[in-house]
Amino acid sequence: MGDYPKPGDHIFADRGTYDHHGIYVGEAEVTDPSSGKTRKLKHAVIHFGGNNSNIKGKASDAPCRKCFNKHGDPGVTLTCLKCFHKGDTFYKYRYDVSFITFNTTRNGSCTTASCDEPDVVIKRAYAFLHNQNFGDYDFFFNNCEHFATACKTGKARCNQGAAGFGVAGAIVYKAARRLLW
Ligand SMILES: [Zn+2]
Repeated sequence: MGDYPKPGDHIFADRGTYDHHGIYVGEAEVTDPSSGKTRKLKHAVIHFGGNNSNIKGKASDAPCRKCFNKHGDPGVTLTCLKCFHKGDTFYKYRYDVSFITFNTTRNGSCTTASCDEPDVVIKRAYAFLHNQNFGDYDFFFNNCEHFATACKTGKARCNQGAAGFGVAGAIVYKAARRLLW
């Protein structure tokens, strides 16, 4: 682990059978719900959990002492980087890749679509967070990858559920996967 992502980057963490996606927003302010005091987070991520099974940890777990995330919180949340990746390896999702790259890279790690400027991306992520208007979580039609791509491009996309299951696909994408940091 060397550098941190850049604010506005779409990142995803490898959770084994699926990936969890989010938008890295850099420094952010969080409020302690018990005292009402605000605190600065150095490395914050806005992501779409939707349901408890999508976030490691149980709803009964104590809130994170850094970002006050309660782990089982549904909807769009802002958490520290650690609550996002939970110790799993995480990667940068790539935009504007060629069709050849897209077709030879593991599903759900890149797209041929272009993304918008980081400040636009961050604004969209915060708007979803404040308005909680991303809708209900659905593994195939409204998941965390849709959320992150919607922030990046203004349009939800997903490659994660479409293909890549099964042994053949798994071998190909294990080999093609590259560690970005
Ligand atoms: Zn946290």
